[in-house]
Amino acid sequence: MEGFSGQSGDFTVTVRRRARYVDESKCTGCGSCAEKCPTSVSDDFNLGLDRRKAIYKYFAQGIPSVFTIDTRFCRQFQGKKCGICQKTCQAGAVDFEQQDRVETFNVGAVVVAVGFDLFDASRITEYGYGRLPNVISALEFERLLSASGPTHGHVERPSDLADKARLAEVDKELKRAQKSLESYEKKAGLNSAEFYQKFQAGAVSGNGDEKAWADKYRSWLDLREENETLAKKVAGSDVATRLAFIQCVGSRDFRFHPYCSSYCCMHTIKEAIIAKEHAPRTESTVFAMDLRTVGKGFEEYKLRGAADSGIRYVRGRVAEITQDGDCNPVIWYEDTKKREVQAQTFDLVILANACSATPGAAALAQILGARVDDNQFFATDSLNPLSTSVPGIFTCGCAQGPMDIPESVAQASSAAAKAAEVVLKAQG
Ligand SMILES: Cc1cc2nc3c(=O)[nH]c(=O)nc-3n(C[C@H](O)[C@H](O)[C@H](O)COP(=O)(O)OP(=O)(O)OC[C@H]3O[C@@H](n4cnc5c(N)ncnc54)[C@H](O)[C@@H]3O)c2cc1C
Ligand code: SF4
Ligand code: SF4
Repeated sequence: MEGFSGQSGDFTVTVRRRARYVDESKCTGCGSCAEKCPTSVSDDFNLGLDRRKAIYKYFAQGIPSVFTIDTRFCRQFQGKKCGICQKTCQAGAVDFEQQDRVETFNVGAVVVAVGFDLFDASRITEYGYGRLPNVISALEFERLLSASGPTHGHVERPSDLADKARLAEVDKELKRAQKSLESYEKKAGLNSAEFYQKFQAGAVSGNGDEKAWADKYRSWLDLREENETLAKKVAGSDVATRLAFIQCVGSRDFRFHPYCSSYCCMHTIKEAIIAKEHAPRTESTVFAMDLRTVGKGFEEYKLRGAADSGIRYVRGRVAEITQDGDCNPVIWYEDTKKREVQAQTFDLVILANACSATPGAAALAQILGARVDDNQFFATDSLNPLSTSVPGIFTCGCAQGPMDIPESVAQASSAAAKAAEVVLKAQG
C-alpha cells in the first residue's frame, strides 16, 4: 500500500501492483514457459526443499493461475540473452516491458488480513536450526508430508536429499571428466590409468598437455570415490520414522514471545498422525511443557493420537539438540516426571515455531494510522475484537494474533459483515 487517507465510509487507498512481466489477461497457466526456462532457483514456497524456474507460479493452486517472472534470477533481466519463455508462450503473454501500476481505489471500509510469519528458530542456538540439517520447522515438515510437495509425501531427511542432489551433480561431473579422458586416450593410444602410472614414475615428458591429462585423471579418481561413497549412503537411506516434535519454540518464552501460539499443539498432533498414516513404522515423541488442546474435540484428538498412532507425549523442555556422525539429531532433555536428564536419538526433529507478527504489519499499521500491540499484531479491543483503533478498519485472523484456521475463517466472515455494515451505512 502506497497511500491512505479519508474516514470510515470514504477511504482513498493507493496500492502498487508489481509487474509480473506476464499479461494476466493472456496467460492460460499452461506452464510451457517454465518447462523451457533454463534458470532453476530455490523454491520459496517449498522453503528451499525443492527448486523452481525463474518464471513460475508461487504454488500450484494459486489464484489467478498466472505465471510471474522473478527478475532477481531471470537471465533477460540480469543482462544476459535469453527470452526463451517469450518464444515458447503460444498465448504471447510474456511482456518484458511491463511496468508496476499504481492504482487508487475509493472504498468504504478496510479489512486487514495480513496473517503471520514463523518465528526464526535459529535464534534459539541450542536447537541448531539452520546448522543441523535434520532439525526442521513444522512448516517444512508440512511440505515434506504433502503429496504435492518436494518429496511427494515421503518424509525424506534434508541431509539425505542433499546427498541425492550431490550424487546427481557428481554423476554429471564424472561423465564430463570421463569424456575428456577418452579424448586424451584416443590421441595418445593409451588408457588413462597406464598413462598416470608412467606420469608418476617420470616416464613421460610431463609437458603441458600431459600435466592437464594427469590433473584430469586425478580429479576423475576423486569424483569416482565421492560417487561410490554417496551411492552407498543414498542406497542405505530410508524415510524418517523416528520423529521428535518440540513445542513452544519461541512461544511462552520470555526471551522471545511470552504468549502461546495457540495452534501448534494441534498441528503437531495432526502431523504425527499423518506421518504414521504415510509410514506405519513411524514413532513420534512430542516434547512439551504441556499440550494446550483447547477446543471442541481437541483433547480427544490428542488422546486418539496416543491410542491409535502411538504418539508418546513427554513433559519436559528440551535443553539442547546435537547430532551423531550420521546426522541423526540427539535430543537432550529433562523428563520432569522421572526427574532425570536424558538423551535420545531421532531421524528428524520438527520444531513448532511460534506465530510471529509479520514485519510488514507494523509498516502497514503506520500507513493506516492504526495501533499495533506489544507483540506487533494489530491492536483490537477485547469487547470488539475485529475493530482496529481506526473506525472503518477491521482485522481478522493472525494479523490480530495467533489463531487456527476455523477461528480465522469465522473472524473473516465477521469482519466482512462489519465492513459491509459500514459501506451500506455510507451509501445511505
Ligand atoms: C506448520 C503449521 C501448520 C498449521 N496447521 C494448521 C492446521 O492443520 N489447522 C489449522 O486450523 N491451523 C493450522 N495452522 C495455523 C494456520 O496457518 C493459521 O490459522 C492461518 O494461516 C491463519 O490465516 P490468516 O489468513 O490469518 O493468515 P495467513 O495464512 O498468514 O494469510 C495471510 C496472507 O496475507 C498475505 N499478505 C501479507 N501481507 C500482505 C500485504 N501487505 N499485501 C497483500 N497480501 C499480504 C500473505 O502472503 C498471506 O497469503 C498451521 C500453522 C503452521 C505454522
Ligand atoms: S527470459 Fe529466460 S531466464 Fe528469464 S524467465 Fe524467460 S526463459 Fe527464464
Ligand atoms: S500451542 Fe502448544 S506449542 Fe504452541 S505455544 Fe501454545 S503450548 Fe506451546
